[in-house]
Amino acid sequence: MTLQIEPVPCLRDNYAWLAHDKDEGVCFVVDPSEAEPVRRALAAHGLKLTHILNTHHHPDHVGGNLALKARFGASIIGPGKDAARIPGIDIGVTEGETCRVGSYEAKVLEIPAHTRGHIAFWFEKDGCVFTGDTLFAMGCGRLFEGDPPTMWSSLSKLMRLPDSTRVYCGHEYTEANGRFALTVEPGNPDLSARMVEVRRVRAEGQPTLPSTIGLEKKTNPFVRAQSGEIRSSLGLEAADDVEVFAETRRRKDAF
Ligand SMILES: [Zn+2]
Repeated sequence: MTLQIEPVPCLRDNYAWLAHDKDEGVCFVVDPSEAEPVRRALAAHGLKLTHILNTHHHPDHVGGNLALKARFGASIIGPGKDAARIPGIDIGVTEGETCRVGSYEAKVLEIPAHTRGHIAFWFEKDGCVFTGDTLFAMGCGRLFEGDPPTMWSSLSKLMRLPDSTRVYCGHEYTEANGRFALTVEPGNPDLSARMVEVRRVRAEGQPTLPSTIGLEKKTNPFVRAQSGEIRSSLGLEAADDVEVFAETRRRKDAF
């Protein structure tokens, strides 16, 4: 059993993720911003959509829900705690639940702060996680509906997944995130090396995703509150991790 996962570029810089296993008759999309690009990708592969997975309620993640459901009869799985804001939701899921998509299983992780009800889908056996707008490559989402301690705890939960876990997030923000990361941790050799690779990939117009949990631990300033260099860049040598995270997020908001 192998899940094929590919990005479907939507809107300006969103990715919906199309995942399928023809042998198992499984085909789902995560966070369809809009229906048409997803419909075209399905047609190109001769696939029929069975499920839609939503990480959170923002329009650029659920905008295609109703049209895709009407066309394919796909069932929509999303955050149970935010069911009222997920168009067309059929199944609301909460922390620790196992969400079944055909023969595939995802564990649901509640990771609030970008929105109150934000969740991730962790396909443990397949080694991948869909993180929406909470964890980005070298970045994290804005804190629209949660405070820094809440986001820190959400990111920490994701960092406890195995290092090899592939990370599929909602936007192509990697290069801009990396430019910011270099302002707070310019001496991190893993970060510099990653940016060389990211710039090369973007110059070819290719996606920089997926990332991995291990790579984020080495290069993402929002999960590196223990870094001495980040602490001294921020003038927070003795602060606790949440304060370092909060100041990093403030600086990025103003970047
Ligand atoms: Zn969002």
